[in-house]
Amino acid sequence: MAKTYDILIVGAGTSGMACAITAAERGLCVGVIEKSDIIGGALHWAGGHMSAGGTRLQKRKGIEDSEEKHLEDIYRINGKSGNLALTEIAVKEAPKTIDWLEDIGFEFAPECTRIIYGHIAYETARHHYGSEKAMSSYKVLEPLWKKFEASGHIECHLNTKMSGLGRTGNRFDYVLCQNERGTQEIHGKHIVLTTGGYGSNPEFFGKKHPGIPLVSSCYPTATADAHQILEENGGVFHMGQYHLPSLGGIEKEVGDGLCNFNEAWAMVMTSVYRQPREIYVNANGHRFMAEDEPDAEAREHAVMQQPNWYFWAVYEATARVRKDENGNHNPVIIGWSNEAIAEEAERGQSLVKADTLEGLSEKINVPKETLTETVASYNTMVDKGEDPSFHRKYLKDSISTGPFYALKIHASVLVTFGGMKVNDKLQLVAQNGNVMEGLYAAGEIIGLGATSGSSFCSGMAITPALSFGRILGRSLS
Ligand SMILES: Cc1cc2nc3c(=O)[nH]c(=O)nc-3n(C[C@H](O)[C@H](O)[C@H](O)COP(=O)(O)OP(=O)(O)OC[C@H]3O[C@@H](n4cnc5c(N)ncnc54)[C@H](O)[C@@H]3O)c2cc1C
Repeated sequence: MAKTYDILIVGAGTSGMACAITAAERGLCVGVIEKSDIIGGALHWAGGHMSAGGTRLQKRKGIEDSEEKHLEDIYRINGKSGNLALTEIAVKEAPKTIDWLEDIGFEFAPECTRIIYGHIAYETARHHYGSEKAMSSYKVLEPLWKKFEASGHIECHLNTKMSGLGRTGNRFDYVLCQNERGTQEIHGKHIVLTTGGYGSNPEFFGKKHPGIPLVSSCYPTATADAHQILEENGGVFHMGQYHLPSLGGIEKEVGDGLCNFNEAWAMVMTSVYRQPREIYVNANGHRFMAEDEPDAEAREHAVMQQPNWYFWAVYEATARVRKDENGNHNPVIIGWSNEAIAEEAERGQSLVKADTLEGLSEKINVPKETLTETVASYNTMVDKGEDPSFHRKYLKDSISTGPFYALKIHASVLVTFGGMKVNDKLQLVAQNGNVMEGLYAAGEIIGLGATSGSSFCSGMAITPALSFGRILGRSLS
């Protein structure tokens, strides 16, 4: 007789780890299937911003906040476009999740909590994070994971990939999976799918978002395995229409469709942090927005109107070396020194350099006359201190002295908004409206749209992934 786990979790990432640890704390026997050779999932790459209202840290810092205020703020940002029941549960659970992280040793960065402006900003300082991005969370989860592995409450099957689902009668009660020993069935009383999103599967993304270019910054394991298996079994994919990209992706190798947020990311999500010394031109060589627009979502929508959702940031060498008026170095690529920029320009992939604008236009395949005219018109605006086309206010630097640079920046995918439909108990729901007995989901598999709606509500991926994992870990038995 095959072993049956109390809870069988697929995916040992953000949500799966929280679920497994919480269930193991109750003495349950938890099986985990993980296709990778490590646990942690997207925590290895993510920025680690977690939003919550009414945490102990906020109280200690004298920041007045509450679940109600957080919820109101989310509704202001996304116009109540998310799943309201799930958003409410996520927001209510959020301070408990953050306090729990603190209880298990999480160290907040000293400046926390803060308002972060990378997306439409909250009105209150409710971003919580550690000094090692999302690895700060991983580092407090991992010792507990190891402790429960040692006690036998968590059994993790690494390098084991879910390839199907099986049921007895109406109830899904086993997972088909593949590893070096071949295909096997692993059984669970409850099956929790925490496999992440789908931004690293170009084919699946293309089917769900026809015509939208995919340049991905998602964690490489986000390949929609469970989405496809669920759809084969009657599950419902929804909220794809909420798709929003993030600005700043730079392909290290042009055309490979990959941008690594931690290796090369342009500081163009909002101008709150950095005033632009460059202009943005589209594939035809035209400007299309005020480069100093502070509203992150307005910027994203402006780029979504451009061919293939990318643009060139064009600037002159002095903009590269000059500090801003606050004395900050602040180059267009986050964390890159001028030396690194110079090296990359020599490589001539996403960053190119030429002595003349004509030479630059050839390298970036933009019509010569259009680019020179766009730059000349911008220089006139700098002289006059006025941008009649897009009303850019920051007009301090002309682009007149070579060498000139162009950096190709993509509206890229960090998190996927579409996902598999669940009810407010996190049970998967089928096309016919019935629950898929025995199956639950948490984390990005349910779609960022569930808790963030059609806008980016900052920090509303990691906190809900942890919270929903914990809710399932303490409620299933
Ligand atoms: C660069 C970057 C920055 C981000 N920054 C933030 C941020 O600051 N704040 C925020 O809230 N969100 C952020 N996010 C989003 C957030 O990190 C993710 O949405 C969240 O961590 C996903 O958690 P998860 O548990 O759903 O998936 P993951 O943590 O990715 O875990 C999924 C796990 O499932 C495994 N798996 C997948 N398929 C299978 C299969 N077939 N069989 C077995 N195992 C499988 C994977 O290997 C992985 O270990 C960021 C994302 C990225 C990529």
